[in-house]
Amino acid sequence: MSQRRIAIIRGDGIGPEIMDATLTILEAGGFTADYVNLEAGLSAVEKGLPAMPPETVEAIREIGIALKSPTTTPVGGGHVSANVALRKALDLFANVRPTRSIPGVKGPFEDFKIDLIIVRENTEDLYAGIEFQPHPDMAQAVKVITRPGSNRLHRYAFDMVRKQGRKKLAAVHKANIMKLTDGMFLEEFYKVAKEYPDIHAEDIIVDNCCMQLVTHPERFDAIVTENLYGDIVSDLCAGLVGGLGLAAGANIGEKCAVFEAVHGSAPDIAGKGIANPTALLFSALMMLRHIGENDTAKRIGRAVLKVAGEGKHVTRDLGGTAGTAEYTDAIIAAL
Ligand code: NAD
Repeated sequence: MSQRRIAIIRGDGIGPEIMDATLTILEAGGFTADYVNLEAGLSAVEKGLPAMPPETVEAIREIGIALKSPTTTPVGGGHVSANVALRKALDLFANVRPTRSIPGVKGPFEDFKIDLIIVRENTEDLYAGIEFQPHPDMAQAVKVITRPGSNRLHRYAFDMVRKQGRKKLAAVHKANIMKLTDGMFLEEFYKVAKEYPDIHAEDIIVDNCCMQLVTHPERFDAIVTENLYGDIVSDLCAGLVGGLGLAAGANIGEKCAVFEAVHGSAPDIAGKGIANPTALLFSALMMLRHIGENDTAKRIGRAVLKVAGEGKHVTRDLGGTAGTAEYTDAIIAAL
């Protein structure tokens, strides 16, 4: 029987190291696939290709599922973000980022028990990439929010909340100031909410939301928000549960899904063998659940929680001394 195909982007910086660790753990957990390696990011640019080559986009469109390591994007000038290009080209409209505290892994606050999911809009807002400079001393960016874009995002978020047995969904916005754009986002939220009477719908202004997240995170069950607020709020949440090394994500479209860690290519630690592969591994487990491999995902997830929680073989970002290889071996031993 032919194996399921999965597109792989090994990425830049720590990307290849954490991808190797992740695929080794998946295999040890009993999951194999026909992995199709694709070019993207700085490594592609260095070979004279675009940061997100059209061949890569087309291959992911055809395969339908991709696991992606982080890619490097220069700040200011240089090539465009491979991620933004991919999300737009494949219309990956929802970015799903779960935040869950791991027993034994300490965040900055003692006794925090967090279990929430963030659904971030992924193609609109200030990330639409419409920037111009009408004067040497003035630069402008256009914030784009559309009614259909907001509507399908909210629908996806309410469906996911219901499927996961969660009870509440909070729309995060700044509609008090951004009356037309965030106002439209919020209007669509409450319109869709009427179709989900079993889920408590509420809204909260983004600055208050950040404050509440660090004082009473337990009051949130799920959050749906725009692109920029989602980017910031989800990193804040990652910090609450032990850092970027644990934060997983999925980019979901109507026909394709791309699973990737929240963090970047961490050039400061690349090649040192000390990167934490958990965020990419958790993203891979989201991918397994997406394709119906729930039991394998559960089994591997349990092994990760055990090793991370015990804290004996964890990487430096989690307060340990282990390298990527020792941590990977410990997870495989726990399987
Ligand atoms: P970063 O997430 O790469 O690093 C921030 C800090 O967290 C660094 O100190 C890094 O060492 C640490 N860190 C990140 N991941 C870690 C891991 N798995 N294990 C241990 N420590 C980890 O953010 P940055 O430095 O702002 O960005 C670096 C590059 O990554 C930039 O070019 C940026 O554009 C790119 N980036 C890519 C993606 C993506 O591909 N999805 C996402 C964010 C940033």
